[in-house]
Amino acid sequence: MAEITLETLGHRYAPGLPYALRPFSMTWQDGGTYALLGPSGCGKSTMLNIISGLLRPSDGRVLFDGVDVTERDTGKRNIAQVFQVPVIYRSMTVAENLGFPLVCRGVPAARIRRRVDSIAERLGLARHLKRPAHALSADQKQLVSLGRGLVREDVAAILLDEPLTVIDPQLKFELRRILKEINEEFRLTTVLVTHDQTEAMTFAKEVIVMNLGEVVQAGAPRALFERPATEHVGWFIGSPAMNFLPARQESGRVTVPGTTLSAAAPEGLGEGRLSLGFRPEHARVVSESPQVAGQVERIWFEGSDEVVALRAEALTLRVRLPGGRVLATGDRLGISVPPENLLIYRDGRLVA
Ligand code: ADP
Ligand code: MG
Repeated sequence: MAEITLETLGHRYAPGLPYALRPFSMTWQDGGTYALLGPSGCGKSTMLNIISGLLRPSDGRVLFDGVDVTERDTGKRNIAQVFQVPVIYRSMTVAENLGFPLVCRGVPAARIRRRVDSIAERLGLARHLKRPAHALSADQKQLVSLGRGLVREDVAAILLDEPLTVIDPQLKFELRRILKEINEEFRLTTVLVTHDQTEAMTFAKEVIVMNLGEVVQAGAPRALFERPATEHVGWFIGSPAMNFLPARQESGRVTVPGTTLSAAAPEGLGEGRLSLGFRPEHARVVSESPQVAGQVERIWFEGSDEVVALRAEALTLRVRLPGGRVLATGDRLGISVPPENLLIYRDGRLVA
């Protein structure tokens, strides 16, 4: 078990190349659940591999419980790492796969057996212990990969690099549940890498959103939803994507031309590209003096909610309406947004 501290950690794969991971600092609490969320190529695996020791960072340090492990080999970090594609010894049985790290350390056979039995029980693999690992399904193979990492008694953390990508959707849920149980039972710091926002938001207490090698925002799922630090986070998290409407500053307010959407400009707002952002969920349909009036351009459903693309002159915005309301393309619709849900962005970053 470990608290993991990343200290101005960054990485370039070669001198002169741009940062695959731009330097940042962060601490992960002992026993916490974290998700690294971002599109392909944003630096998620780079970060994870530095923490597990597969990669030496070009900048900064990694500390486990305050101890610098930056130069320590993977084998000495006691990390259970699981990759997108299960890593198993195909010719070995499930039991042999699970016990392998202990065999390598010369642990007595009887102790290995006890430990393997308890891990297999925990992961729901007990029935399969005698089967050859290659005969298992993809999700079971991932459990074996995970189990092999957990079999040592001194595991510092579990790192999972898109481990659910090859898994059937209905099994993903089950696997996530097992991961959560293990996190709670063993109090192991668990970091899940994913490009799937639902996976990140349902699994982790804290989500770290990345884009183009940069850690853009870290926070609880609700905070990311309510106050995205950048327009990118607003688009990436939530469904449908957040609205960002081009705005301008006039007489101490930030307003969207063609509407009466407006927010008080904070002190020292300065120059730059301004926009007002709000979630489709936060728009309210009103009949009297709406802030934006337009025409329903398109309608689709998310669960029982109706989502409307509303066209107001040059603007298109998305409105999410709780089930029941029935609109048709071409209908006139007016909306307003409560002031607390209107956020100001300058050059794509949240200012207020
Ligand atoms: P992710 O896991 O989020 O998809 P990666 O961490 O694998 O992203 O990659 C981040 C960036 O670093 C990408 O631009 C990728 O092309 C680059 N990269 C990854 N591995 C190497 C490598 N071994 N050498 C050079 N560049 C690499
Ligand atoms: Mg990756």
